[in-house]
Amino acid sequence: MDLSLSENYERYRADVRAFLADNETIWRQPMTDADGRPGENGRRWQELLIERGYTCKTIPTEYGGHGGRADILESFITAEEFHRVGASTGLANQGISMFVPTLLECGTPEQRERWIRPTIRGEIVWCQGYSEPGAGSDLANLQTRAVEDGDDFVINGQKIWTSSAHFSDMMFVLVRTEPNAPKHQGISYLILSMDTPGIDVRPLKTMTGRAEFNEVFFTDVRVPQSQIVGGRGEGWKVANTTLKHERGMLGDPGQANAMLARVAKIMEEETLNGVRLIEHPILQDRLLRLQARAHAMKFHALRLLTHGLKGEDPGLARLIVKLNGTILNHEIAALAIDALGEIGALYEGSPHLRDKGFWQTTHMFSLGLIIGGGTSQIQKNIISEHGLGMPREPKPAPTAVQRGA
Ligand SMILES: Cc1cc2nc3c(=O)[nH]c(=O)nc-3n(C[C@H](O)[C@H](O)[C@H](O)COP(=O)(O)OP(=O)(O)OC[C@H]3O[C@@H](n4cnc5c(N)ncnc54)[C@H](O)[C@@H]3O)c2cc1C
Repeated sequence: MDLSLSENYERYRADVRAFLADNETIWRQPMTDADGRPGENGRRWQELLIERGYTCKTIPTEYGGHGGRADILESFITAEEFHRVGASTGLANQGISMFVPTLLECGTPEQRERWIRPTIRGEIVWCQGYSEPGAGSDLANLQTRAVEDGDDFVINGQKIWTSSAHFSDMMFVLVRTEPNAPKHQGISYLILSMDTPGIDVRPLKTMTGRAEFNEVFFTDVRVPQSQIVGGRGEGWKVANTTLKHERGMLGDPGQANAMLARVAKIMEEETLNGVRLIEHPILQDRLLRLQARAHAMKFHALRLLTHGLKGEDPGLARLIVKLNGTILNHEIAALAIDALGEIGALYEGSPHLRDKGFWQTTHMFSLGLIIGGGTSQIQKNIISEHGLGMPREPKPAPTAVQRGA
């Protein structure tokens, strides 16, 4: 296997490096405000990246994108170079990374025209209203109802674990419009403004100490029927298009490799009883094991790249990125915390905190990403049953309530 790049691509890499060096003052500044919304600096950086085609490369110019052709190797080099120096690869949130690609696949030309430009420029922030108290892994069980009334749907029900809902402008939401249809066929995918009367957002704190997600209650919320993506009752298909992009977004191997390089640096600089941590046998062993897994992830990404270049669908091999990448990021942060010893146990507010508490926050936050977008157990079920052809796991017998007894 020859992994060397042609001269053209080496030149491309040099261009990316020069761009990053010229604009260091921008990417060193925070991209988001304290509440997590894209800030002025983030929007400026995003605009520069779109102009150069380092993000939103294939989104047509009429929708505010770069309007270029896909070049998977260029994208790979861009990500590698940005991660190498720790620069933001552009704004990434549920609107940009999940909803925009869904609109490009399933939306009407009017919907694309109205929503894509302000979303990719960071002017509109979206949240994802999928999960409910009784519908997480079994998402098709969702019960939030939307009933037709004149030109509108009227929504009643509840969502939970809705990330960013407390500062979002818009939501893409799954609702049950056909209560008598089989459960996968009775769902529609709507878009609504978070200002609509009848929406009550109640923040939920996670173990980071911050409210990153929310409960969202709907009481007689009116949404014009035109704000449906895909057809009525076709929401399951549209929802899975979004999920495909969500799982692709989580567990990026470039990020894992960049984090590992930072842990290795800590281990080279810090000492324990006068011995550098990198020479400590247990920590060294953990670092090497994680490096081997991160390399395996990188080569898996190259395998997916090869499929892409040949125009082949990698199928379920894509799910391995989410499954392994999210677990790997969590374990890398755990190693950093252990390597930092007693400093690793500190949290926000301490003057001795390293890297502004990045490792502690990442360790806690990345645990959530193993669950969000479909848990690891569910990814394993899909890979084993649909990818490897193993027998389906037995379903539990229905309860008396489910039998309607
Ligand atoms: C940080 C974070 C952010 C999130 N953001 C959003 C968001 O923005 N919008 C949104 O809609 N949702 C969001 N979620 C919700 C997420 O999608 C759900 O938590 C997830 O799908 C699991 O559903 P659940 O929590 O109901 O757990 P359950 O489905 O009740 O699962 C509980 C446990 O049982 C296991 N399990 C369930 N079924 C099976 C099975 N068949 N086989 C083996 N094991 C099984 C699961 O793996 C899990 O360990 C977020 C979650 C987290 C943690």
